[in-house]
Amino acid sequence: MKKHNFSAGPSILPQEVLLKSSEAIMDYNNTGLSLIEISHRSKEFVEIMENAKSLALDLLGLKDKGYQALFLQGGASGQFLMTAMNLLEKKAGFLNTGAWSTKAIKEAKLFGDIQEVASSADANFNYIPKGYEVASDLDYFHCTSNNTIFGTQIKSFPKTSVPMVCDMSSDIFSRVIDYSQFDILYAGAQKNMGPAGTTLVVVKEDILGKVSRQIPSLLDYKKQIAAGSMFNTPPVFAVYTSMLTLEWLKSKGGVAGIEEENEKKATLMYSEIDLNPLFTGFAAKEDRSNMNATFNLADDSLKDTFDSMLKEAGISAVNGHRSVGGYRASMYNALPLDSVKALVEVMSELEAKA
Ligand SMILES: *Cc1c(COP(=O)(O)O)cnc(C)c1O
Repeated sequence: MKKHNFSAGPSILPQEVLLKSSEAIMDYNNTGLSLIEISHRSKEFVEIMENAKSLALDLLGLKDKGYQALFLQGGASGQFLMTAMNLLEKKAGFLNTGAWSTKAIKEAKLFGDIQEVASSADANFNYIPKGYEVASDLDYFHCTSNNTIFGTQIKSFPKTSVPMVCDMSSDIFSRVIDYSQFDILYAGAQKNMGPAGTTLVVVKEDILGKVSRQIPSLLDYKKQIAAGSMFNTPPVFAVYTSMLTLEWLKSKGGVAGIEEENEKKATLMYSEIDLNPLFTGFAAKEDRSNMNATFNLADDSLKDTFDSMLKEAGISAVNGHRSVGGYRASMYNALPLDSVKALVEVMSELEAKA
């Protein structure tokens, strides 16, 4: 039986995407060849890459607005250094909202001065700082739209006079926002878009070419754009599967369509956390993530009972990250509402039992 998959990443993909991509492994579009045994320069794969890039820009509302989409390797972690290498001349500002922001800061420090504009480290990152100013003498400002581990999400982004870079690994394509407020956004595919192995980077071209350092070709956005994400052999399977997910998303009414679903799932999840006296939410209410809901048992002695009930109900991967403990329900685009219903049901059964 298929489980209810709440994994934080790599995470659930639509069933029809899994089916189609597994067929392509055996025989891509009746070519008599597997997708992963043909040239990335073949007409077939070039079409896939072009389609994937075009769908990504289209779904984000960034078509014909000076942006380029890239499918790179090295994960979101690779972008921690690549954004800095390509943009940081003197000083950049970072909003520190969790483990991923902290790692991004660490990498960027190799290339210049970093100013932590604001941080929520004082409360184990259970909220999003507000009311801070982003100085105008920075090369860029970097933030993390959704904090996968802590379950917080930026609802309103600051207005800045400098380029804005955003790590959107765990909430890209999940909600309607003005994506054009960002100059670079990036996301490892494995949370909300596809299998691990590729990273979507969307770059506004006119912010490039302003640093004085030499950039190695592989890590140079300009060279990657010129090569159409094919500077070297791209991860063909990950790109193809991401393309299928983006097609699936388009068929669901795009980002606006899926946002409605995501709202329903998050509302159901958080109302159970709030109404059920056995559970407490981790994140500050106004900053709660619609993607990753973090919560704890009020009484840890119920843990074994709850865990075995979850297992019984086929609910998988709701254990919290080690730095937060407790539980985390990741509700990415492909997670059906029924899975959240199943989880909430177990939570209320526990209440009835206790
Ligand atoms: C998972 C995650 C990352 C790391 O992604 P990799 O592709 O493994 O490097 C970075 N940022 C956020 C917000 C994440 O959720």
